[in-house]
Amino acid sequence: MIDKEGFDDWYNEIVEKAELCDKRYPIKGMNVWKPYGWKIMQNIDELIRREMKKTGHDEVYFPLLIPEGFFKKEEEHIKGFSEEVYWVTHAGKNELEERLLLRPTSETALYSIFSLWIRSHADLPLKTFQIVNTFRYETKMTKAFIRVREIHFFEAHTCHVDFDDAERQIKEDLEIANSFFSTLCLPFIASRRPDWDKFAGAYYSIGLDVLMPSLKALQVGSIHQYKENFSKPFEIKYEGVDGKHYYCHQTTYGMSERVLGAIIGVHGDERGIKLPSSIAPIQVVIVPIIFKEHEEKIMEECKKVKEEIEALGISCVLDDRDKTPGSKFYDWEIKGVPLRVEIGPKDIEKNVITLVARDGIKKQIDRAEIEKIGEELKEYDKRLYDNAKKFLEENIFIIKKLERKDGILEAPWCGDEKCGKEMEEKLEMKSLGIPLEERECNENCIICGRKGSKWLRLAKSY
Ligand code: ZN
Repeated sequence: MIDKEGFDDWYNEIVEKAELCDKRYPIKGMNVWKPYGWKIMQNIDELIRREMKKTGHDEVYFPLLIPEGFFKKEEEHIKGFSEEVYWVTHAGKNELEERLLLRPTSETALYSIFSLWIRSHADLPLKTFQIVNTFRYETKMTKAFIRVREIHFFEAHTCHVDFDDAERQIKEDLEIANSFFSTLCLPFIASRRPDWDKFAGAYYSIGLDVLMPSLKALQVGSIHQYKENFSKPFEIKYEGVDGKHYYCHQTTYGMSERVLGAIIGVHGDERGIKLPSSIAPIQVVIVPIIFKEHEEKIMEECKKVKEEIEALGISCVLDDRDKTPGSKFYDWEIKGVPLRVEIGPKDIEKNVITLVARDGIKKQIDRAEIEKIGEELKEYDKRLYDNAKKFLEENIFIIKKLERKDGILEAPWCGDEKCGKEMEEKLEMKSLGIPLEERECNENCIICGRKGSKWLRLAKSY
């Protein structure tokens, strides 16, 4: 893992060195996805599509432009987003009668149409999602994949008969998050955001955060309970079994390309990024260790091994470029390829192949047992997860008085907004919220001294 001080510089460089994106596009916060980076992102999208399919969500695709009239329907929502919106005011030479905005998020677009789709209790629950670009005019310093103005965005939107059914959806969302993030070897913490930091228009919000090597938290997902806050202004109603009409209860679950930012940050080291095998466009790279007199024999063996690895359903590249093995190792390590296979004359002689995982673990396996490569990838993933988990756990601290410390702090809190905000100010941190897994707190609020009723998590964050 990269050290705390050097992390941000390392991150800014590695995203280009690993050929994930090109930051030279002349609009701030809008980067170009390079083929390698885009393949990884598409693989991440496929993982979430798989989770959505398993849980009965259908994919939709709504227009990018939203009429101002839609956007204005929910007051809190406009307040939260109005500073960040990009407006379209003209078409050709004509000024538009109604301004259009580039979606900063899609509630107002979807819900105007959901009100036409939903008629009866039999139409519920409605479970949808889309993977689209959204636009937010960020005024803070931009950072590739972490703070951008055009965002590659995942959003699930659901409608339910009542609050309890919406709550069940939120439980399911948390299960989805567990499964999704563990496949990416990313341990996270879930916190119920304080009221002053919930999503614009939400009844409550849950934030999913990872801890970066800079010891700053990065929000990688959020889940919101809307209750009837949107269904009322958008008139999303259904006819119940009793023939009466009711407003739907709604939830959303959002994630973005920040997930990739987290993978880069949490797993990377001074040699480059480390990709979990589940999303690596290239899972195995074969590097021939060529000695003049054996060249032909080695290349032949490498090709055979490549075919056998591919037959296992593992993506594999044979690096036959005219470069030294050392410089090839260097290139693939930057890009985070999980496993390297080295084949030289000695390996052929001993009837083995040499495996070097991206985290440095080296071993030889019998040539005849090539199917073991699948297990090696699984073990490598497990090591990525375990290391990240250890780092996260080692950097969560319980504090019982106002003390500044790097990492994620948990402090006794009376529940008053005033005390919470004072903690943020004095610790120079942002509150992540109350741990989702309820824990008893018998300590006194570190601001007012009253008996604390809950723990408040705080951290510096992106
Ligand atoms: Zn207090």
